[in-house]
Amino acid sequence: MGMFMTKTDPVSEMGHSIMVFVENTFTILQWVAGALLIYLWSPLAAIIFLIWAVFSLVWFWRTICIHCPNVRTGHCPSGYNVIVRRWFGYKDPRGFKAAFYRNIAVILPWWIAPLIVGGYLLIHNGMDMRVVLLLAIVVVVGFVLVPVVSKKVGCRYCSNRNNCPWKD
Ligand code: SF4
Repeated sequence: MGMFMTKTDPVSEMGHSIMVFVENTFTILQWVAGALLIYLWSPLAAIIFLIWAVFSLVWFWRTICIHCPNVRTGHCPSGYNVIVRRWFGYKDPRGFKAAFYRNIAVILPWWIAPLIVGGYLLIHNGMDMRVVLLLAIVVVVGFVLVPVVSKKVGCRYCSNRNNCPWKD
């Protein structure tokens, strides 16, 4: 998820729309690949994973995004500003860092749960190309594409990047 950008940033409206599309495509891909991987172990666990993913995203909006200046400027790279402003409003941006540290763990299962289940399946059941493929998608999207796109585009033009915990 990208960090702050403002209307004065050198990113065109078209560029912003593409960024929102790419960021959300990555998130959906990460969830779907993770859920399919977990499904190979337990269908019930896959459903719980998806429910958690949605719940944690709403929690993220409610606790972290609500403090983000991009909710006011309308330039959240993920496009969440529309939902956050309508559903939750916004709070003092100075609370962003503390809110981030307090609540960011809620979305960590998006990355961790598929890795644990994928590793378990490979060790327990041996080589399965479905597991390898899904694990590869989870790793490439979650650990390579998302961080690279955020750093190169979202964070690069962020006017409040110095306030971002990722830089600590
Ligand atoms: S509103 Fe701010 S904190 Fe939330 S995803 Fe967008 S840039 Fe990140």
